[in-house]
Amino acid sequence: MPQARRVVIVGGGAGGLIAANMLARERDVKVTLLNDTPYHYYLPQLLQIAFRGDDSQLRRPLDSLVRSGVELLLERAARVNLAERSVETESGRSIPYDYLILAPGLTVDHSAIRGNEPLASKFGDFHSTPENAWRVHSAISGINKGRVVVAVADPKHRCPPSPYEAVLLADEALRARGVRQDVSITLAVPYPRAYPSESFNEVIEPVLRERGIAIETFFTVDSVDVEGGRMTSLEGGELQFDVGIVVPMHKGPRLSVLPEGTLDEDGFVKADRLTNAVNGYDDAFAIGDASTSANARTGVTAHLQAEVVVKRLRGEHSVNTGRTNCPTELGFGMGTFVISDYQHPAVRLPPMRVFFLMKRMFADMYWDMLKYPEFWNPIFESYLEATEPGRLSKIFG
Ligand SMILES: Cc1cc2nc3c(=O)[nH]c(=O)nc-3n(C[C@H](O)[C@H](O)[C@H](O)COP(=O)(O)OP(=O)(O)OC[C@H]3O[C@@H](n4cnc5c(N)ncnc54)[C@H](O)[C@@H]3O)c2cc1C
Repeated sequence: MPQARRVVIVGGGAGGLIAANMLARERDVKVTLLNDTPYHYYLPQLLQIAFRGDDSQLRRPLDSLVRSGVELLLERAARVNLAERSVETESGRSIPYDYLILAPGLTVDHSAIRGNEPLASKFGDFHSTPENAWRVHSAISGINKGRVVVAVADPKHRCPPSPYEAVLLADEALRARGVRQDVSITLAVPYPRAYPSESFNEVIEPVLRERGIAIETFFTVDSVDVEGGRMTSLEGGELQFDVGIVVPMHKGPRLSVLPEGTLDEDGFVKADRLTNAVNGYDDAFAIGDASTSANARTGVTAHLQAEVVVKRLRGEHSVNTGRTNCPTELGFGMGTFVISDYQHPAVRLPPMRVFFLMKRMFADMYWDMLKYPEFWNPIFESYLEATEPGRLSKIFG
């Protein structure tokens, strides 16, 4: 009998878990999944914590999400040696592999911007930890008068529409408390317009304006003075705040990878945008937030990339299309999606109630989709086909 191929997956998040569970039933594969925490975190819930005080969907024990057939090791991978085909864990265990899937996500670096560490300790953020999301919740729940500023420091942050959702949900929360007329909200971005993609900007900017949210363009955060309540930009701008939140700089995962040169200057794993193969290797792949092949740092991207890698391991032809599908909550029960791919810019999808309901539905389906991908994938594929950006742009422009 031929020996089973050993597939080692580093990271049991949105990408790694899908890959592990898809491979669980392959006869000739032995899957080992390494994760550094006993829980899987649903990161979109950080917004719900920050602006609604709701942590109901935040996390589930990883062992409840892993199918039989997957060996789960709750250990941190410390080092990967691509030439020697081995992963070394923090406890010193060496795990050999025939194929490697790197899916350890990313790290958030508050220290990359002067003054952002004390700012995050005071007001939190909605991109790093549940604790920081709860800090945002306290700050938004506590302000009755003054200025809220949300500034995007890193254009490549997780979930492209999340800062827009944040200011719109802050608006909703402040209106619900009856204090909105006394609290201004400003969204500061480094782009020439509110949203970097021109076509999606045509959807989101009118919503922001209608809700009275000020937009500060060409504002690349340079430094923050927490005590003085002011942020400065590289362009020479300045914003005063009573509550200030910076979408922090994102860096590669906490993992050392050999040979040198495999990681880019920010620590992300260099990988092919079509196949996810780590540069120079055909037996190692990097997917999701950790990879330079992720055109958008989203769970959907990680999921689709996991499918591409698993199909390639089965010997099928499969490549990334660059498809994005970012549900965007606008508050007051309305939503839209950022839908694009390598060939098409984001569709001008008008705000509708049904898109809010779809966002909620995705959150409810999430845990099952992770565990039983072969059940959900045909449904997901039909949805992706029905909402293919070329097709939608003919309908919505
Ligand atoms: C506020 C917010 C809203 C979002 N909204 C959406 C949305 O609506 N739709 C969407 O698709 N995406 C959304 N995202 C983005 C999405 O959550 C991420 O892009 C997705 O989780 C990335 O998946 P991943 O598998 O690459 O990494 P992760 O899900 O971060 O998983 C990485 C895993 O690896 C583990 N790990 C890290 N280092 C090691 C190591 N050295 N050894 C072992 N294990 C390790 C971690 O503990 C973690 O379990 C949102 C993100 C945020 C912050």
